[in-house]
Amino acid sequence: MDKNQKCILCNSDNTILQWKNVRGYRVRKCLDCSFLFLDEIKSEQELEEFYSENYFMASYARNETDLVSAAKKQTILSEAAEYAKLIRNHNPQAVSVVEIGCSWGYLLYNLQNFEYSVKGYELSKTTANAGREQLGLDITSGFFEAQIDQFDVLILRHVLEHVPDPQDILSKIYDSLTKGGLFILEGPNLDSISSKLFGQNVSWVAPPEHVSFPNFRSLVIAGEKLGFKCIYKSTRRGRGISIFHQALLNSVGLFFGGKENAKNNLGGINDNASNPNINKLKKFVLKAVSFLDFLSSPIHPFLRQALLEEEMLIVFKK
Ligand SMILES: [Zn+2]
Repeated sequence: MDKNQKCILCNSDNTILQWKNVRGYRVRKCLDCSFLFLDEIKSEQELEEFYSENYFMASYARNETDLVSAAKKQTILSEAAEYAKLIRNHNPQAVSVVEIGCSWGYLLYNLQNFEYSVKGYELSKTTANAGREQLGLDITSGFFEAQIDQFDVLILRHVLEHVPDPQDILSKIYDSLTKGGLFILEGPNLDSISSKLFGQNVSWVAPPEHVSFPNFRSLVIAGEKLGFKCIYKSTRRGRGISIFHQALLNSVGLFFGGKENAKNNLGGINDNASNPNINKLKKFVLKAVSFLDFLSSPIHPFLRQALLEEEMLIVFKK
């Protein structure tokens, strides 16, 4: 574990301790680019071991017998169509599309329907194998290394917040794109309304898996420094997480045993709590949340307009 006092995104020394105890970890904030990051970070080797062995998508790919039909689910299909549209709009000549941290490749698989030649990188060997064998995709297991001027589009979804050296991966991405190439970045939005309301209690602030907690300003600064132009910004409500979700989980968790338990017992959407009663309660809360989510639908277009939803999407052009 290394101690980081310097900003891991812009290298500035001008950082302060923002949150003293998030599940035992300390979070620093860069006063120059406003990036938030852990001050103790796993090394690349620890990271590779962690994702090879433990990551939940690995077990998903292992348990799912038919990945082709899993990849054809409506939500996944519409995600691919949305990405294809972004690519068409901003780089109509694009041919080659690469996703770094592609899991079992469900997005890449469907992007083939739009005539793109696709390739993926994935740290988890099990997951990469599943995508290669069942979906016939070209997935390399391991870290992404720069390949100068090779690709028209690079996609990074929910990966940046996991990597110990985000600056390094961003510059590898820049170098690997062709002139006019697109870098599509998707991940947590720490500028969201929930972040503003609940601070370190939002579910994105999940150390040690999440090493950093991105916001628009810091990523745009980092991208522009490399030579990218930010050409599109948007937010989305994300994987079932809403303001109500966050609010309810936190209040119930806090009620049942303080901040730590709020996260351990209720924060993870897919995790089972150790206490069966809490599990029952969690199921009930999740049902209530789904209903409130449904009720909140009309306000989401306004939140999106103001870039306040839970997940961010940025398109950079080289
Ligand atoms: Zn910084």
